[in-house]
Amino acid sequence: MARSAHPRNVGSHGIRTHMTLPMSEEFSGTRIAASARSTRRKPHFRVLRRLVSSPKGAIGLGIVAVMVFIALFGPFIAPLDPYKQDFMATLKGPSAAHWFGTDQLGRDVFSRILHGAHTSLGIGIGGVAVAFLFGVPLGLAAAWFRGWFDQLVMRAVDIMLSFPDIVFALALVALLGPSTMNVIIAVGTVSIPVFIRTARAVALSTLAEPFVEGSVALGCSPLRVMARHVLPNMAGILVTLSSLLFASTLLTASGLSFLGLGTQPPEPEWGTMLGESRSYIRSHPYMATFPGLFLAISALGFNLLGEELRNIYDPTAAKTRRAHWFGGLAKAARRKPVAAPTAIPDMPQDVLVVGRDLEVSYLTASGALPAVRGVNFTLRRGRMLAVVGESGSGKSTLLRAVGTILPRGQALISDGTLAIGGEDVSTMTPERLQQMRRKHIGVVFQDASSALNPVMTVGAQLIEAILSGNPMPKAQARSRAAELLAAVQIADPQERLDQYPHQFSGGMKQRIVIAIALAQNPDILLADEPTSALDVTIQQQILVLLRRMQQESRMAMMLVTHDLGLVSRYADDVAVIYGGRIVETGTVEEVFRNPSHPYTRALRAAAPRLHAPGEGKRLSAITGDPPMLGQFPPGCSFAPRCGRTHGRPLCQTQTPEPRPVGGKLVACHFAEEV
Ligand code: SF4
Repeated sequence: MARSAHPRNVGSHGIRTHMTLPMSEEFSGTRIAASARSTRRKPHFRVLRRLVSSPKGAIGLGIVAVMVFIALFGPFIAPLDPYKQDFMATLKGPSAAHWFGTDQLGRDVFSRILHGAHTSLGIGIGGVAVAFLFGVPLGLAAAWFRGWFDQLVMRAVDIMLSFPDIVFALALVALLGPSTMNVIIAVGTVSIPVFIRTARAVALSTLAEPFVEGSVALGCSPLRVMARHVLPNMAGILVTLSSLLFASTLLTASGLSFLGLGTQPPEPEWGTMLGESRSYIRSHPYMATFPGLFLAISALGFNLLGEELRNIYDPTAAKTRRAHWFGGLAKAARRKPVAAPTAIPDMPQDVLVVGRDLEVSYLTASGALPAVRGVNFTLRRGRMLAVVGESGSGKSTLLRAVGTILPRGQALISDGTLAIGGEDVSTMTPERLQQMRRKHIGVVFQDASSALNPVMTVGAQLIEAILSGNPMPKAQARSRAAELLAAVQIADPQERLDQYPHQFSGGMKQRIVIAIALAQNPDILLADEPTSALDVTIQQQILVLLRRMQQESRMAMMLVTHDLGLVSRYADDVAVIYGGRIVETGTVEEVFRNPSHPYTRALRAAAPRLHAPGEGKRLSAITGDPPMLGQFPPGCSFAPRCGRTHGRPLCQTQTPEPRPVGGKLVACHFAEEV
């Protein structure tokens, strides 16, 4: 396998700088790199600055800071002993000697509030911590495992949420006995379902993102996927939720203490103080006013702070504000020669993927519905197979099956065989599958913007892909990441490693996605509509790049697209897919020069072509709609739209199997007719 010419095998001193593509992106990249350098020079207190620059954040932060200060240093600044009783000075109103008055035992209320802050805020923080530590992992596990585990967790959540919080907490404390620790357990337990639901919902949507699919395709473990991609993307929501729950937890705990089930006298605690004051509310209202005021102000402060933190950590609103968090990575950059990735020994020389009578089904409430139906195909080293067809034809499902990244619990290979490197996928253990994905398969997804994690720098994402199952020093991985960026023709790679996806243009993002896909030097490259989100000029650049890298590394490549123009220019072989079946396949030359299947002919007629007979005329459209999943007509699926069937019964009754016609395989009973 001749790989020495590939840019990935060139040391950092030999990074290719030749430019075979238009350089507009690279020039713009220099400008962006300069702005990023200025971004990295900003102070490391951006979050704090943003908090104090907004009224809401400043007030919230101020209140929380004061309350935390009181909780930590209250006992040192309290003017009097909070436990000392003075029966000569009971129930005295506020005065110079007792700023908040005295209680029924003559104790100084101000000093008791200062001492009680420690316990009151501690209960709130402890309750949120209990809910967080149990709720978030359970929610993530439910989202990851789905199935019966998810059902079990969600039914338990439904049951817990069917009880009012205070009633549930009361029942728990009654069961455990009144004490500060039991109140923390009770209020924390009551809040666990909220964290489970939130974490599960956010994780489900994040796991469906292409950048997570990409990580799974790289063979990242569930824990790594959760820690690197899912948790950072839900940080803002969890911070907000924690803050909101802190307020409600504080109030619920105070309610329990008010009822005598929490912190026990004579310990000072705001809820307990409220409870002790209830007999004197009419005659001495200040006794309840001051602890109540501190409770309310604390809850308000944490709410305001949480809301502003959410705005800051929301990844969709974040711009460059977190750049400095990862800026330290830049200091580790050292240009060192990187060893060329070793060839993978357990792949046969030529045929890398074989699908035989492959059927892939989606699991729905109506049962397993096949989306790919009995297809046969082969991916060979050094050749590009293009899979073309309309939306919903099953081409992306086929690509995901080959990438072993079908959505867990939603789709599966329901029949036939899929062999990768001569190994039947159905016989592989999960570990072997993960290794296969990591070492042999690279995937380029359609939308580069969603294929990249918005809260991680490009360098961090590349390094993660490089280190996946391939341990090496961080500096070496960074150097390799820069090489990969150079290989996909991104100028100034060392600088650009520290930038975030939003600092790149659409075409450059797609180049980064390609670099990530190539990080493990795969033998098989899968590209799912890699250019459909790009303009025409950039499409050409990306396809030229993909084709060049595929040929230089002699990768087997599957390109899913609906653009016949791209197929005719860049692919070697083509498989036309309709209704989940391959209806015509062969070399691009044979299929496009003389298409035999009516669907291929219709697709070709619907594609715009320059300098072709009929140029300037209206393009013909394929009448009717492709069949829906699970609603394939009997016989030939294309029959309702076919202009060649002429009502022939055979088309409606017998499914045409692929057969050789003019050097191709064509699935049409009347393929020889023109
Ligand atoms: S089998 Fe019949 S309906 Fe199907 S493509 Fe051929 S002619 Fe058309």
